[in-house]
Amino acid sequence: MSVSIAVIGGGIGGAAATLSLLSHGIDAHLFERGDHFSELGAGLQLSPNATRILHSFGLEEELRTCAVEPTAWHQRRWRTGETLSSVPLSTHMKMRYGYPYYHILRTDLLDALTKAIPQDRVHLGYEMTDMHQERENVEVTFSNGQTFEFDGMIGADGIRSRVRSFLFGDVTPCYSGCIAYRGLIDADRIAKLKLPTETQVWLGPGKHLVTYYVQRHKLLNFVAVIDRPEANDESWVMRGEVDSLRAEFSGWHPMVVDLVHAAQETFCGGIFDHQPMPCWTRGTVTLLGDACHSMVPFMAQGAGQAIEDAAVLGRCVQAATRGTLADCLKSYETIRRPRTQKICNIAAGLKDNLHFADGPDQMSRDQNLGSDTTSWGVGDLDWLYGYNAFSAGPPSALVTSKLTG
Ligand SMILES: Cc1cc2nc3c(=O)[nH]c(=O)nc-3n(C[C@H](O)[C@H](O)[C@H](O)COP(=O)(O)OP(=O)(O)OC[C@H]3O[C@@H](n4cnc5c(N)ncnc54)[C@H](O)[C@@H]3O)c2cc1C
Repeated sequence: MSVSIAVIGGGIGGAAATLSLLSHGIDAHLFERGDHFSELGAGLQLSPNATRILHSFGLEEELRTCAVEPTAWHQRRWRTGETLSSVPLSTHMKMRYGYPYYHILRTDLLDALTKAIPQDRVHLGYEMTDMHQERENVEVTFSNGQTFEFDGMIGADGIRSRVRSFLFGDVTPCYSGCIAYRGLIDADRIAKLKLPTETQVWLGPGKHLVTYYVQRHKLLNFVAVIDRPEANDESWVMRGEVDSLRAEFSGWHPMVVDLVHAAQETFCGGIFDHQPMPCWTRGTVTLLGDACHSMVPFMAQGAGQAIEDAAVLGRCVQAATRGTLADCLKSYETIRRPRTQKICNIAAGLKDNLHFADGPDQMSRDQNLGSDTTSWGVGDLDWLYGYNAFSAGPPSALVTSKLTG
């Protein structure tokens, strides 16, 4: 008989993990504290390393009908609009990696994932409040007073993970020094700008603006990331002032000014991550997604990495028994922790680069961007977009040290 696993948290990571576990014959159940699945009304970039997995879940058709395939990643200078780099995406991605690069509304992705999970596996209104771990099982208690026993548990409960606190104690998220304004603009309101189907990234002193279409071009998603030394609330449901957003971009290229003036509402919150974790797993409980590797969003990989976690997790536990589950979860961590840590580190290092004041650093960055037609400033991306979660093992250095040590 297969092992039973509780997945705590019905965000993109938890939903993907549940689907992956079920597809490998694991007796998995998903517990979400909300009384419905919900995601922020905002967009998400999904690269081929993640879309490969979503297609394997049978979501190809569903994603195609709601996502947008951007033609390029286009970086531009804040005042003049000059092109700093333009990296081909849609055709290039499919040719090189076999899978598309998508822009998608978060709610559309979460809908697609959760609709694919059988309803008897989904438990809404279940906020995990307590857990007790024995050698080969875990007892999970929810705020509604119910307690269940499982062989194992996955904490996919986000950056403020309660599962993580139970395993390793409280970890305070670190403020990145940036806030983000986010929102969606009706495409009709900006039709006159004739924006191409690209990711446009406008780089300026102390801030940058990313825009792209979602929902078959019906909506334009924007994210404005702005240096702000003092910590800000991380909540994304906090309404921001549209006038403050507009003021941030006064004096920028007329297209940017028009864009932010077309926004009718915005949400604003601080950007947080947390220190690298030396360990994700204790016994038959482990972590997944932002619960163990929250990252600043400059690589657009947080959700993608949670989806990769889900695929590797399914593979690692498919043959698990009660006696081997702890080792299987440790193998999952061994494969996933180095890769996600590498991406967290690169993302953290990108912020200053994106926000240089006009001057020598900015000029040398722009020169580098101009000479780089295959990536968007971080070098070769095959290791990132070409990653196959269905066959990837631990980094070779780890394998070598295990063999020799
Ligand atoms: C500005 C910005 C832009 C981004 N852009 C991108 C992008 O383009 N591409 C990309 O791949 N990533 C992007 N990300 C990152 C991405 O949003 C996250 O990495 C991803 O959503 C994390 O998913 P998750 O499921 O791990 O966590 P969450 O989305 O936080 O989900 C956690 C879930 O757990 C539930 N929960 C919490 N506690 C409990 C409990 N005790 N009991 C039961 N349920 C509980 C919550 O209600 C929630 O549903 C971006 C992030 C930011 C901030």
